[in-house]
Amino acid sequence: MSTYSRFLRRVVIPVGSRLAGYGDFLPYLQSLEASQWWSPAQIRELQNQKLRRLIAHVYQHVPFYRQVMDERGLTPADIQTVEDLPKLPIVDKSVITRYYNTTLRDQTIPQHRLIHATSSGSTAERLHYWTTKAQKAKKWAGLFRWWEMVGYEFGDSYVTFQLAPNQGFKGWPLVGRLEWLLLRHHWLSAQEMTDEVLNRYVENLQAWKPKLFRSYASTVYYLARRMNEAGLQVPIPSILTTGETLTDHMRETIEQAFAPGRVFNEYGGDGMQIAAECEYHQGLHINAETYIVEIIKDGRPAQEGELGEVVLTNLEATATPFIRYNIHDVAAITHEPCPCGRGLPRLSHLEGRLTDMFVTSDGHWLTVHQFTAFFAKLHSVKAFQVIQKEVDFILIKLVVDETFSGEDEKRIIETFRRYMGPHARFELEFVDAIPVSPVGKRRFFISEVIQGTSSQV
Ligand SMILES: [Zn+2]
Repeated sequence: MSTYSRFLRRVVIPVGSRLAGYGDFLPYLQSLEASQWWSPAQIRELQNQKLRRLIAHVYQHVPFYRQVMDERGLTPADIQTVEDLPKLPIVDKSVITRYYNTTLRDQTIPQHRLIHATSSGSTAERLHYWTTKAQKAKKWAGLFRWWEMVGYEFGDSYVTFQLAPNQGFKGWPLVGRLEWLLLRHHWLSAQEMTDEVLNRYVENLQAWKPKLFRSYASTVYYLARRMNEAGLQVPIPSILTTGETLTDHMRETIEQAFAPGRVFNEYGGDGMQIAAECEYHQGLHINAETYIVEIIKDGRPAQEGELGEVVLTNLEATATPFIRYNIHDVAAITHEPCPCGRGLPRLSHLEGRLTDMFVTSDGHWLTVHQFTAFFAKLHSVKAFQVIQKEVDFILIKLVVDETFSGEDEKRIIETFRRYMGPHARFELEFVDAIPVSPVGKRRFFISEVIQGTSSQV
């Protein structure tokens, strides 16, 4: 570790966290740095200990869980290990938002210590919940562990490329600037991405020489595509993509512009840092000291490697407990050891939002990954978005250039028909642009019919 990094960790970050009014994340980060190398059995035992502590606490102090457990004839003694979790009901965004301010709330935390949080995701319905400084600090620790996993250390120059900047010191712009200066943080706005702006960004990156670059997958993909077209390259040791599906084609494009083999996918949502890739790119390691991840298919635990819905238990949250929270994302899990030696289990596949998938009439799930290679080879199509309006009715929106032909149209429909079955109907709509969601995400697939496991309370 460099001297500057040590100085930041020993002095600047502890003092800065206190001044900014959020908890010091370094103690938790240090514990995560160590425990990632534990054996899977040790990590599982840590999860079980934290789970027992969590359940004992919510049974005593969160009326929602007292009631839910009493109704099921459960006491904390019935939840001893991760295997016991299915005794408790699955909850979702609507349950949390409905009860977070009444019964689903830790009564030992005084109101003035609760911090209101909200997250929008890709759907219109917003999630509302309470958090605390201590809980936020643990979230930051989880994030920085992922950064360190791909070679970052505090003091390395890094760039965030997103709609709005992350500012620790809200309302104190000068201190905020000092924080960025000390942490060598630069921000590029993803608000406006004309060619002129993107050219300036490339110059910025060449001047700043960041060690790490973090962005929504589609945003950095768009930048990389423009750079590749212009024959530009900026070597950056680590690119972290977040927020949405990263397809193989997107990964290749980003690697070409920045660095081969150095694109790392990161997965978070609804205020949680859930999983990220290590240097081996064989799935995403789960932040297992903080979250229990269950994969549920049709109401039962999925097999290893089988796609299902991601159901999360946050072992460190009580202000608003997240216990068996269905985040409505789709992934598969593996407990096979990773060549990196970390004992953390992995998501072997991560397919994004459940509503970003299609369901066929015989119940199979389709993901955009099955179509990206096809579209990548279809040069006349500049952008696409496919909407499942009914199980057997698909609307395909396309941005095309003048080379688009009737032959291309036939190939598109044939390709989709192979997956969707002979009864499916298709409609093509030619548009000037594909709109991004209000939070800046690009969605390739939208299903208006798929429904996952609903809340059980
Ligand atoms: Zn690994």
